[in-house]
Amino acid sequence: MTDVTVVGSGPNGLAAAVVAARAGLDVLLIERADTIGGGTRTAELTLPGFLHDVCSAVHPTALASPFFRDFKLAERIEWMIPDASYAHPLDGGAAAIAWRDLDRTADALGHDGPAWRHLVEPLVDHIEGVVDFTGHQLLRIPRDPLAALRYGLRALEQGTPLADIRFRGTAAPALFAGIAAHAAGRHPSLATAGAALLLAAHGHAGGWPVPVGGSQAIANALLGDFVAHGGRVQTGRHVESLAEVQPSKVVLLDTAPELLFTAELPGRYARALRRYRYGSGVAKVDFALDGPVPWANAEISLAPTVHLGGTAGEIRHAENTVARGRVPDNPYVLVTQPSVVDSTRAPEGKQVLWAYTHVPADSTLDATELVTAQVERFAPGFRAVVLASHATSARAEEELNPNYIGGDIYSGAMTLTQLVKRPVVSTTPWRTPIRGVYLCSSATPPGPAVHGMNGWFAVRLALRDHFGIRLRLGR
Ligand SMILES: Cc1cc2nc3c(=O)[nH]c(=O)nc-3n(C[C@H](O)[C@H](O)[C@H](O)COP(=O)(O)OP(=O)(O)OC[C@H]3O[C@@H](n4cnc5c(N)ncnc54)[C@H](O)[C@@H]3O)c2cc1C
Repeated sequence: MTDVTVVGSGPNGLAAAVVAARAGLDVLLIERADTIGGGTRTAELTLPGFLHDVCSAVHPTALASPFFRDFKLAERIEWMIPDASYAHPLDGGAAAIAWRDLDRTADALGHDGPAWRHLVEPLVDHIEGVVDFTGHQLLRIPRDPLAALRYGLRALEQGTPLADIRFRGTAAPALFAGIAAHAAGRHPSLATAGAALLLAAHGHAGGWPVPVGGSQAIANALLGDFVAHGGRVQTGRHVESLAEVQPSKVVLLDTAPELLFTAELPGRYARALRRYRYGSGVAKVDFALDGPVPWANAEISLAPTVHLGGTAGEIRHAENTVARGRVPDNPYVLVTQPSVVDSTRAPEGKQVLWAYTHVPADSTLDATELVTAQVERFAPGFRAVVLASHATSARAEEELNPNYIGGDIYSGAMTLTQLVKRPVVSTTPWRTPIRGVYLCSSATPPGPAVHGMNGWFAVRLALRDHFGIRLRLGR
């Protein structure tokens, strides 16, 4: 009998598989796609020689992840850490830029500079405590309660109408709204403000890095280590029911919780899972470009991540329109242009650009025109540099990866309730009531993004429960 079967090879499944294989267990990793990596895959989606990240592209959470530090991911692959963490163009050629250098950022924000500094500096200075608080499940005593308190108070401010009190100008609130909208949902809200504060702190601490060659490099590093420790891999196999994989002492599911319904579940747990909610979808467009994006403000070309949508008011309106189930005319668009720092992504002189916008769940909208129009607003002439594009609707996101139900790339709505109830309220939410079966996807704490922590928490629990193996990071 296999010791451990892992279903799904996203960063969390791979993290769990690596840890189990390194512990000397016989581990089988099963993936429905033909390639390994889930949300950390890179592919030629448009033209030969143009490498597009299929899902994740920018990795502040990977570089800061305790699991990935233990795995020495920073040393295993090459990273580009830009001076400009993220940029936010405004009409008329103006722009706000979050430089890694907090002083430079604050100086450029003018009279709102001190307010920006006051908002983020205590989090930057205590980034380990903030990562500890946000990188675990919330039902625990944080290691650095003061950092958690500072973070919580700021989330309370920026997640409520109090948000409007802090800044006087246009640039700083837009800069914050751009990062808050990484989490789909109502704006302002505690969950979106919480996400923004973490991302803002990373922006001035370790930065917002991109891996040379694309996110696939992360998956490949994990896969290489897994195989080197005797791990076995099956690709192209969709696990339809739990019974298929139960001839295994332990099963770790890097999947949506739905797969658990294929087995008999205690009524209370089944009812709690049925109450788990998915959020809005994402419609993505990948572009192959003949050259750099003609940004009206040249400094935007220094940042691999760009937030489009205009002022904080416009972005909130766009995101709240999506939350009400409609497609906004003037959407928030999250852009990455990794080839501005990584020349391996495209043939010489060419560029790649990845963009997504939030849309109602299950939408079949091809967002190419919506996204192109928003890029044109801040980069007139953009259409003329497009060589080819590839659109993925929200529904197609789910077809590509069943974890993204309705196109929800977070595998569960990002609300305050669901930060605690992910997917159930428990001090060990990774353990299911089915003996030997654990959930390790981003539908568990600490939620989405590429950090591998969900996989680490689940496998640590499973190895202790079933093999008496006790593991800690950093040993
Ligand atoms: C468009 C997009 C952009 C993103 N941008 C970023 C970013 O820039 N930075 C960041 O940190 N995060 C980003 N994310 C989020 C990040 O990719 C996810 O949070 C992360 O990949 C989740 O990891 P996971 O291991 O939980 O699941 P996933 O990465 O989703 O992997 C799950 C895997 O399980 C497989 N699977 C599911 N069900 C089955 C089954 N029944 N049988 C077999 N295999 C199965 C799937 O095929 C998939 O390979 C983005 C996501 C998307 C979609």
